[in-house]
Amino acid sequence: MNAPDSADLIAHAGVPARRTRQARAVWGSRVVTIGGDAPVRVQSMTNTDTVDVIGTAIQVKELAVAGSELVRITVNTPEAAEAVPHIREQLDRMGIDVPLVGDFHYNGHRLLTDFPAMAQALSKYRINPGNVGKGDKRDRQFAMMVEAAAKYGKCVRIGVNWGSLDQELLAAMMDENAQRAQPWDGKQVMYRALIQSALSSAEVAREIGLDPNQIIISCKVSGVQDLIAVYRALSARCDYALHLGLTEAGMGTKGTVASAAALAVLLQEGIGDTIRVSLTPQPGEARTQEVVVASEILQSLGLRAFNPSVTACPGCGRTTSTTFQELAKQIDDFLRAQMPVWKAKYPGVENMKVAVMGCIVNGPGESKHADIGISLPGTGEAPAAPVFIDGQKAMTLRGEGIAQEFHKIVEDYIERRFGAAAATH
Ligand code: SF4
Repeated sequence: MNAPDSADLIAHAGVPARRTRQARAVWGSRVVTIGGDAPVRVQSMTNTDTVDVIGTAIQVKELAVAGSELVRITVNTPEAAEAVPHIREQLDRMGIDVPLVGDFHYNGHRLLTDFPAMAQALSKYRINPGNVGKGDKRDRQFAMMVEAAAKYGKCVRIGVNWGSLDQELLAAMMDENAQRAQPWDGKQVMYRALIQSALSSAEVAREIGLDPNQIIISCKVSGVQDLIAVYRALSARCDYALHLGLTEAGMGTKGTVASAAALAVLLQEGIGDTIRVSLTPQPGEARTQEVVVASEILQSLGLRAFNPSVTACPGCGRTTSTTFQELAKQIDDFLRAQMPVWKAKYPGVENMKVAVMGCIVNGPGESKHADIGISLPGTGEAPAAPVFIDGQKAMTLRGEGIAQEFHKIVEDYIERRFGAAAATH
């Protein structure tokens, strides 16, 4: 057979490099870069009352341990502003150096002026241009927030949201549109107003004295197609680092799928420097689920690696027991739970691939593609589970203790392969 012509080769589409400016959220010696050549960052937000110092610090810790590289907290009252430096101290005492972002609406200008310790303890401020005031007060109040960021050397996110879009700007743009010979539809005007609000606010912030590298922009909407349209246009019009997320994504499967659908399209085009998945937690669900989903989106796209991945088949009529589902879940839970420790102990372990398969049809093949894999016996097969390590059949497990034995084999593999890497690091 002849060598394939280059036209026959099937290449990964790849993600185009989008050279944005790079912002830095700093706390102590921890510097989280956003934009430029930095990896796409995962963010999250607490849902505790910020006045509850211990409760908020614990949730920030949980989010950071789950992989959130920045955590936003609500700063809505003088009491909340008072609590922020105490939350920071509590986190520092716990050894959690994740940068904190303050979320301000309506009174941020006053809080950032009246509570300098809070302004200092935060690493980034979120300013919503639609919620800084009306009429004459608007510009002055926006300026006060930007001046605080300049004074304390903090970066800001100018975060426009279509649920709180500057109504004066929108009304002016609607009027202007009505004068056009062929007016655009209302949605077009809304898209343009979102972008205009963000970019003109950024321009004002620069005039006041903020460095363009201190500015991150977001224009969040809750519809997938709307988000894609707005961010494509926004990305074409500026080189600021972009915070990307579907606002009010919703609960559970709907919120997860909608966020993944929207973010995947944009990230694949190189658009988005930091992401947040705005999931509504289901009753009893951990707040950290939004971090898990954000990390999985980036890892599925091959943009980041956070955890070893577990490939498991869906099961079918060839496997009537739940053994392989249980084993896949146990291994996945085990690997995730260990990662906070393993990140430092076993460099590179986040790239590991484990396969847990239900029968002989795809089991051995998929297991060979993984670093370590097991093919469990399907219905009617001999009760034997071949284990493959680095593409080679290494052993066959039998009997009641297959799950425990495989668990131990995975641990030994990690120690052997990634422990050695740590020793030479
Ligand atoms: S590997 Fe076997 S059990 Fe799993 S889905 Fe395929 S045929 Fe079914």
